Amino acid sequence: MKPTNRTFSAAGTTIFEVTSRLAAEHKAINLGQGFPDNKGPEDVRAKAREFLEDEPNQYPPMMGVPALRQAVAAHDQRFYNLEVDSERGVMITAGATEALASCLFGLIEPGDEVVVIEPLYDSYLPVIRRAGGIPRVVRMTPPHWELPREGLAKAFTEKTKLLILNSPMNPNGKVFSQEDLSFVAGLLTQHDAYAVCDEVYEHLIFDGKQHIPLITLPGMAKRCLRIGSAGKTFSLTGWKIGYVVADPTLLQPVARAHQFITFTVAPNLQRAVAYGLGQSEDYFKSLSRDLQKKRDFLSEKLSGIGFSILPCEGTYFVTADISHLGFDGDDAEFCRHITIEAGVTAIPVSAFYESVPPRNLVRFAFCKDDKILEEAAGRLTRHFGL
Ligand code: PMP
Repeated sequence: MKPTNRTFSAAGTTIFEVTSRLAAEHKAINLGQGFPDNKGPEDVRAKAREFLEDEPNQYPPMMGVPALRQAVAAHDQRFYNLEVDSERGVMITAGATEALASCLFGLIEPGDEVVVIEPLYDSYLPVIRRAGGIPRVVRMTPPHWELPREGLAKAFTEKTKLLILNSPMNPNGKVFSQEDLSFVAGLLTQHDAYAVCDEVYEHLIFDGKQHIPLITLPGMAKRCLRIGSAGKTFSLTGWKIGYVVADPTLLQPVARAHQFITFTVAPNLQRAVAYGLGQSEDYFKSLSRDLQKKRDFLSEKLSGIGFSILPCEGTYFVTADISHLGFDGDDAEFCRHITIEAGVTAIPVSAFYESVPPRNLVRFAFCKDDKILEEAAGRLTRHFGL
């Protein structure tokens, strides 16, 4: 038989699917994959039901329903003071995953270099490679996950087409500062490169910190594609409604890729997200406030058990160091062990690395009901004999 595509055949099943299956098999509390366990905002879901009945269900426009494109532009104006052309500068996608794929397929030419920062989200590398790109991987190191400026500068060459920048960053909860972003902007300008900005956790940010989109920095409007996800902003990860905001010229090739990947997404969900993006300040504040409380609760419990907790400035995730628990094995073995033996699932951070990873870090999702977090903490406490 002829071989199938090398990149995807070699990719294996994503760690999120693997751990979720193992969690289900062992009836473990799944703090692995990052999805909230609430139903999402009642009014947004009610709008989706209403629009399903009252609005057309045929192919919406390829760039997204106008109401949602306008809502995204208004959102970016409201939160970031960005001037966005809702007609030609916004594209609605099947989640951020498709937005990323469309950006990468739309921009990369075979042989182009793409700078990425480890630990990294697992869809980046296979798609870069399938597009013919050559990843240049720069590494951040725990526990402070500082932007490795020297390494980053070295990774840029005349062949660099783009950088993928994820902030707030999964899995390590890092939020890049204005100074970090200015440094990155300097490199992009110097090397005439683009940035695909994965900002799906833009509203999940803690301790009064502000999310700063790279696209808002001087000179960056023509170089950056800003990706968001309604899945995260409305705790509706299964809806898979994402968006890309960019200068119309830059967005055009990305839209060409999108038209052959998904073309469009469910119209009622798009309309409901358009409604959701108009929520009051309170909605967005309470989203991050509630998650911050959950972060603090779980971090305190885990640290009482003996995990060392790394800083977490945003996202759904807290990273914990297992070195002092006396476990004889690596992070992947540890996650398997606690799933089967303690009934709690986490994700090994090594899954976010391609080159030699740290083996002592695991990621717990805290975007769960308080009772579930309590139960998970109780199970781990009992398991570790406290
Ligand atoms: N990027 C990052 C960093 C993520 O964590 C996720 C979701 N886990 C995505 C992209 C994909 O988002 P979506 O579900 O909207 O496709």
